[in-house]
Amino acid sequence: LSTDARRVLERIDEHNVDFLRLQFTDILGTVKNVSIPASQAEKAFTEGIYFDGSSIEGFVRIQESDMRLKPDPTTFAILPWRDRDDGTASARLICDVMNTSTGEPFDGDPRGVLRRVLDRAEGMGYDVNAAPEPEFFLFEHDEEGRATTKTNDAGGYFDLAPKDLASDVRRDIIYGLEDMGFDIEASHHEVAQGQHEINFEYDDALTTADNVATFRSVVRAIAAQHDLHATFMPKPIARVNGSGMHTHLSLFDDGENAFHDGADEFDLSETAKQFVAGILDHAPAVTAICNPTINSYKRLVPGYEAPVYVAWSDRNRSALVRKPAARTPAASRVELRSPDPSCNPYLALAVMIAAGIDGIERELEAPDPVRENIYEFDEERRAEYGIDTLPTTLAESIDALEADEVVLDALGDHVTETFVAAKREEVTDYRVSVSEWEKDRYLETF
Ligand code: GLN
Ligand code: MG
Ligand code: MG
Ligand code: MG
Repeated sequence: LSTDARRVLERIDEHNVDFLRLQFTDILGTVKNVSIPASQAEKAFTEGIYFDGSSIEGFVRIQESDMRLKPDPTTFAILPWRDRDDGTASARLICDVMNTSTGEPFDGDPRGVLRRVLDRAEGMGYDVNAAPEPEFFLFEHDEEGRATTKTNDAGGYFDLAPKDLASDVRRDIIYGLEDMGFDIEASHHEVAQGQHEINFEYDDALTTADNVATFRSVVRAIAAQHDLHATFMPKPIARVNGSGMHTHLSLFDDGENAFHDGADEFDLSETAKQFVAGILDHAPAVTAICNPTINSYKRLVPGYEAPVYVAWSDRNRSALVRKPAARTPAASRVELRSPDPSCNPYLALAVMIAAGIDGIERELEAPDPVRENIYEFDEERRAEYGIDTLPTTLAESIDALEADEVVLDALGDHVTETFVAAKREEVTDYRVSVSEWEKDRYLETF
């Protein structure tokens, strides 16, 4: 056993853990659990735990349904909301999924996809750091216990109590996250009523993806204790700000920030600009993964602080990529503003990073930053600046994905096939359905 694994066994004893949840995510980013008695922990580390993957979204493949979970001992955490009166506790371990017949990582495991991209970055000499800014809404339940879109507060951007009635829920969520080992940097009420943002400390990209998956479960669980529904749906209410998950990225080389150059007018190195150029170049395909639902495209419209145009800026927030002000060289980074919290965080980080390092490999040149509010540009002006528009529908972004070899290569064949098939089905299902908007608009007119 590794030192980390041995330490986990000790902590299982110390905390009287009786059940372990072995976690992984399916292709859509939904957290899946296989629960084992804590007495099986040692075996889980040495042999792994076998399970049937045939019912997991995106895992199915004839002959390949037997899979093995390999727990990552560095991800051990006691689940705070499962503390019981009898003094026993539950804990979780995040797992890599292995193929039982080959003993190799399973191609369809999103965590494995991210690992592969990070290995490539490492081969170029880079460690990747990432920090997300997930936003979410808190809604009330109706009498039947179903989620509504009725908010329980009337707060606004950075509002404080007493208007921000949700602040005690948010405080409990933060305590829950801290119990799970999160370093919370800040939290605030977002622009829309009932909308919140909680920021946690940056980490290596793999840990950050794990953290996003954990974050969503903790937020939902603790909101539920307050009889509220937390949703990461990108645009739950029309004509109101949606929920994004801005993602900050930087590359480190031997402990030095490879994105920083104090001599540059934006404090950005050539490497950082090439990385940005790579992201802009692959933006349409990256959008398919970072904005993977029909609803994602209701957020990516002008006027609600969400990006619509493929450009970068050192100032304004209408651009796709922003260079945030950094207080120290280590903090120089770029912020991609398109991702939304309905994405699979492993796949999303994998494609953002793959796009960026492709820019470095090809030494792409970033265009000039755009400082004006691009929402206010007309088509002619955008053409003059050479600014493209992000895909406006899921169908459009899936087409772009299928045409982008670099992004497809990062995902691998298995994930590409299953993701595209699932999303094409989603597009078709939406196309044949009739929305409330259509009924409101046409039912009495015609
Ligand atoms: N909610 C906005 C979005 O959709 C972001 C608002 C902000 O953080 N300034 O991306
Ligand atoms: Mg923020
Ligand atoms: Mg925000
Ligand atoms: Mg931001």
